[in-house]
Amino acid sequence: MDYVFAPPPQASIAVANSDARLPVRRVFCVGRNYAAHAREMGMDDRDPPFFFTKPADAVVDAGSTIPYPPETNDLNHEVELVAIIGTGGRNIAVEDSLNHVWGYAIGNDFTRRDIQIALRNVGRPWDWGKAFDNSALIGPAHPVSVVGHPSEGFIRLTVNGEVRQDGNLNEMIWNVPEVISIISHSMELKPGDLIMSGTPAGVGPVKPGDVLVHSVVGLGEVTATIGARL
Ligand code: MN
Repeated sequence: MDYVFAPPPQASIAVANSDARLPVRRVFCVGRNYAAHAREMGMDDRDPPFFFTKPADAVVDAGSTIPYPPETNDLNHEVELVAIIGTGGRNIAVEDSLNHVWGYAIGNDFTRRDIQIALRNVGRPWDWGKAFDNSALIGPAHPVSVVGHPSEGFIRLTVNGEVRQDGNLNEMIWNVPEVISIISHSMELKPGDLIMSGTPAGVGPVKPGDVLVHSVVGLGEVTATIGARL
Protein backbone atom coordinates (compact mmCIF):
# COMPACT_ATOMS: atom_id res chain seq x y z
CA MET A 1 0.00 0.00 0.00
CA ASP A 2 1.28 3.43 -0.95
CA TYR A 3 0.18 5.97 1.68
CA VAL A 4 0.55 9.71 1.25
CA PHE A 5 2.23 9.82 4.66
CA ALA A 6 3.33 7.18 7.14
CA PRO A 7 0.37 5.45 8.84
CA PRO A 8 0.31 5.65 12.65
CA PRO A 9 1.84 2.83 14.68
CA GLN A 10 -0.61 0.09 15.68
CA ALA A 11 -2.10 0.86 19.10
CA SER A 12 -1.42 -2.01 21.49
CA ILE A 13 -1.35 -3.13 25.10
CA ALA A 14 1.18 -5.25 26.96
CA VAL A 15 0.61 -8.96 27.55
CA ALA A 16 1.48 -10.43 30.96
CA ASN A 17 4.57 -12.63 30.98
CA SER A 18 5.17 -12.11 27.27
CA ASP A 19 7.16 -9.87 24.93
CA ALA A 20 4.27 -9.95 22.47
CA ARG A 21 1.76 -7.10 22.47
CA LEU A 22 -1.96 -7.23 21.86
CA PRO A 23 -3.19 -5.02 19.01
CA VAL A 24 -6.07 -2.70 19.93
CA ARG A 25 -8.86 -2.09 17.45
CA ARG A 26 -11.50 -0.11 19.38
CA VAL A 27 -12.20 0.75 23.02
CA PHE A 28 -15.86 0.37 24.02
CA CYS A 29 -16.94 1.64 27.43
CA VAL A 30 -20.09 0.82 29.39
CA GLY A 31 -21.69 3.75 31.20
CA ARG A 32 -22.86 3.47 34.81
CA ASN A 33 -22.67 -0.31 35.13
CA TYR A 34 -22.55 -0.50 38.94
CA ALA A 35 -25.71 0.57 40.77
CA ALA A 36 -23.95 2.57 43.48
CA HIS A 37 -21.94 4.50 40.85
CA ALA A 38 -25.10 5.23 38.84
CA ARG A 39 -26.66 6.65 41.99
CA GLU A 40 -23.60 8.77 42.82
CA MET A 41 -23.92 10.23 39.30
CA GLY A 42 -27.55 11.11 40.06
CA MET A 43 -29.06 8.50 37.74
CA ASP A 44 -31.47 5.59 37.95
CA ASP A 45 -29.73 2.24 38.35
CA ARG A 46 -32.17 0.10 36.34
CA ASP A 47 -31.71 1.62 32.89
CA PRO A 48 -30.53 -0.50 29.96
CA PRO A 49 -26.78 -0.22 29.31
CA PHE A 50 -25.36 2.48 27.09
CA PHE A 51 -21.97 2.83 25.51
CA PHE A 52 -19.34 5.32 24.48
CA THR A 53 -15.92 4.84 22.90
CA LYS A 54 -12.36 6.02 23.15
CA PRO A 55 -9.87 6.04 20.29
CA ALA A 56 -7.55 3.02 20.19
CA ASP A 57 -4.50 5.24 20.59
CA ALA A 58 -5.82 6.63 23.90
CA VAL A 59 -4.47 3.46 25.54
CA VAL A 60 -1.56 3.84 27.96
CA ASP A 61 0.46 1.02 29.52
CA ALA A 62 0.43 0.12 33.19
CA GLY A 63 3.11 1.91 35.18
CA SER A 64 2.93 5.01 32.99
CA THR A 65 2.79 8.64 34.02
CA ILE A 66 -0.51 10.06 32.77
CA PRO A 67 -0.16 13.73 31.79
CA TYR A 68 -2.84 15.87 33.48
CA PRO A 69 -5.00 16.72 30.44
CA PRO A 70 -5.89 20.22 29.24
CA GLU A 71 -9.15 22.12 29.82
CA THR A 72 -10.18 20.35 33.02
CA ASN A 73 -9.93 20.96 36.73
CA ASP A 74 -11.66 17.69 37.62
CA LEU A 75 -9.75 14.71 36.17
CA ASN A 76 -11.43 11.63 37.70
CA HIS A 77 -10.32 8.02 38.15
CA GLU A 78 -12.57 5.07 37.22
CA VAL A 79 -11.09 1.61 37.86
CA GLU A 80 -12.63 -1.00 35.55
CA LEU A 81 -12.41 -4.62 34.43
CA VAL A 82 -11.49 -4.72 30.73
CA ALA A 83 -12.67 -7.65 28.60
CA ILE A 84 -10.56 -8.28 25.48
CA ILE A 85 -12.26 -9.66 22.39
CA GLY A 86 -10.17 -12.32 20.62
CA THR A 87 -12.80 -13.75 18.26
CA GLY A 88 -15.17 -11.40 16.54
CA GLY A 89 -18.82 -11.82 15.74
CA ARG A 90 -22.21 -10.25 15.45
CA ASN A 91 -25.48 -11.17 17.16
CA ILE A 92 -23.59 -13.19 19.78
CA ALA A 93 -25.83 -15.07 22.23
CA VAL A 94 -25.20 -14.41 25.92
CA GLU A 95 -24.42 -18.12 26.41
CA ASP A 96 -21.75 -17.91 23.68
CA SER A 97 -20.21 -14.55 24.68
CA LEU A 98 -17.32 -15.86 26.77
CA ASN A 99 -16.07 -17.92 23.82
CA HIS A 100 -15.22 -14.60 22.14
CA VAL A 101 -13.02 -13.34 25.00
CA TRP A 102 -9.22 -13.56 24.68
CA GLY A 103 -8.57 -12.32 28.18
CA TYR A 104 -8.88 -9.54 30.72
CA ALA A 105 -6.98 -6.53 32.01
CA ILE A 106 -7.31 -3.84 34.63
CA GLY A 107 -8.20 -0.40 33.26
CA ASN A 108 -8.82 3.18 34.27
CA ASP A 109 -11.41 5.13 32.26
CA PHE A 110 -9.93 8.56 33.00
CA THR A 111 -12.62 11.24 32.73
CA ARG A 112 -12.61 15.02 32.48
CA ARG A 113 -15.67 15.07 34.73
CA ASP A 114 -16.35 18.80 34.54
CA ILE A 115 -16.42 18.65 30.74
CA GLN A 116 -18.50 15.46 30.70
CA ILE A 117 -21.15 16.88 33.04
CA ALA A 118 -21.31 20.21 31.22
CA LEU A 119 -21.85 18.44 27.88
CA ARG A 120 -24.37 16.02 29.38
CA ASN A 121 -26.37 18.86 30.85
CA VAL A 122 -26.88 20.47 27.44
CA GLY A 123 -27.49 17.17 25.62
CA ARG A 124 -24.24 17.16 23.64
CA PRO A 125 -21.88 14.19 23.03
CA TRP A 126 -19.52 13.31 25.89
CA ASP A 127 -16.46 12.68 23.74
CA TRP A 128 -14.45 15.65 25.00
CA GLY A 129 -14.88 14.43 28.56
CA LYS A 130 -13.97 10.81 27.85
CA ALA A 131 -12.04 10.28 24.63
CA PHE A 132 -8.97 12.47 25.12
CA ASP A 133 -5.28 11.57 24.76
CA ASN A 134 -3.97 9.04 27.33
CA SER A 135 -7.49 8.54 28.73
CA ALA A 136 -7.45 4.72 28.83
CA LEU A 137 -4.90 3.19 31.17
CA ILE A 138 -4.98 -0.53 30.39
CA GLY A 139 -2.86 -2.97 32.38
CA PRO A 140 -1.23 -6.03 30.90
CA ALA A 141 -3.61 -8.45 29.17
CA HIS A 142 -4.04 -11.80 30.90
CA PRO A 143 -5.27 -14.70 28.75
CA VAL A 144 -8.37 -16.65 29.73
CA SER A 145 -6.19 -19.78 29.81
CA VAL A 146 -4.46 -18.32 32.88
CA VAL A 147 -7.08 -16.20 34.66
CA GLY A 148 -10.40 -17.67 33.56
CA HIS A 149 -13.36 -15.27 33.53
CA PRO A 150 -13.30 -13.02 36.62
CA SER A 151 -16.91 -12.34 37.64
CA GLU A 152 -16.81 -12.09 41.42
CA GLY A 153 -14.34 -10.54 43.82
CA PHE A 154 -12.71 -7.22 44.56
CA ILE A 155 -12.15 -4.32 42.18
CA ARG A 156 -10.25 -1.60 44.00
CA LEU A 157 -8.37 1.66 43.57
CA THR A 158 -6.14 3.49 46.00
CA VAL A 159 -4.77 7.01 45.57
CA ASN A 160 -1.60 7.69 47.56
CA GLY A 161 -2.48 4.65 49.68
CA GLU A 162 -6.04 5.78 50.48
CA VAL A 163 -8.85 3.47 49.31
CA ARG A 164 -11.10 5.40 46.92
CA GLN A 165 -13.00 2.63 45.13
CA ASP A 166 -13.69 -0.79 46.65
CA GLY A 167 -16.35 -2.75 44.80
CA ASN A 168 -17.10 -6.29 43.71
CA LEU A 169 -17.29 -7.52 40.11
CA ASN A 170 -20.59 -9.20 40.99
CA GLU A 171 -22.16 -5.76 41.44
CA MET A 172 -22.23 -5.10 37.69
CA ILE A 173 -25.77 -4.36 36.51
CA TRP A 174 -24.98 -5.92 33.09
CA ASN A 175 -22.31 -8.62 33.33
CA VAL A 176 -19.57 -9.18 30.76
CA PRO A 177 -21.42 -11.88 28.75
CA GLU A 178 -24.51 -9.66 28.56
CA VAL A 179 -22.48 -6.62 27.54
CA ILE A 180 -20.69 -8.52 24.76
CA SER A 181 -24.00 -9.84 23.44
CA ILE A 182 -25.66 -6.41 23.53
CA ILE A 183 -22.76 -4.66 21.74
CA SER A 184 -22.62 -7.40 19.10
CA HIS A 185 -26.26 -6.81 18.21
CA SER A 186 -25.36 -3.21 17.36
CA MET A 187 -21.78 -3.45 16.05
CA GLU A 188 -19.78 -6.36 14.66
CA LEU A 189 -17.12 -7.13 17.25
CA LYS A 190 -13.61 -7.81 15.98
CA PRO A 191 -10.38 -9.15 17.54
CA GLY A 192 -8.63 -6.42 19.50
CA ASP A 193 -11.82 -4.69 20.58
CA LEU A 194 -11.58 -3.82 24.28
CA ILE A 195 -14.62 -3.42 26.53
CA MET A 196 -14.21 -1.29 29.65
CA SER A 197 -17.04 -2.73 31.75
CA GLY A 198 -17.86 0.19 34.04
CA THR A 199 -16.68 1.47 37.38
CA PRO A 200 -17.86 0.88 40.95
CA ALA A 201 -18.77 3.76 43.27
CA GLY A 202 -16.18 6.12 44.67
CA VAL A 203 -15.00 8.01 41.59
CA GLY A 204 -13.21 11.23 42.36
CA PRO A 205 -10.49 13.67 41.39
CA VAL A 206 -6.75 13.13 41.03
CA LYS A 207 -4.00 15.74 40.83
CA PRO A 208 -0.42 15.89 39.56
CA GLY A 209 1.87 13.71 41.65
CA ASP A 210 -0.84 11.28 42.78
CA VAL A 211 0.06 7.58 42.67
CA LEU A 212 -2.81 5.26 41.75
CA VAL A 213 -2.83 1.52 42.46
CA HIS A 214 -5.56 -0.48 40.73
CA SER A 215 -6.30 -4.08 41.64
CA VAL A 216 -8.83 -6.67 40.48
CA VAL A 217 -9.21 -10.19 41.81
CA GLY A 218 -6.94 -12.56 39.87
CA LEU A 219 -5.36 -9.80 37.75
CA GLY A 220 -2.75 -8.39 40.12
CA GLU A 221 -2.01 -4.68 40.49
CA VAL A 222 -1.52 -1.84 38.04
CA THR A 223 0.05 1.47 39.01
CA ALA A 224 -0.06 4.88 37.39
CA THR A 225 1.22 8.31 38.34
CA ILE A 226 -0.50 11.56 37.42
CA GLY A 227 1.96 13.86 35.70
CA ALA A 228 2.18 17.60 35.21
CA ARG A 229 -0.44 19.56 33.32
CA LEU A 230 0.02 19.44 29.57
MN1 MN B 1 -16.22 4.29 33.04
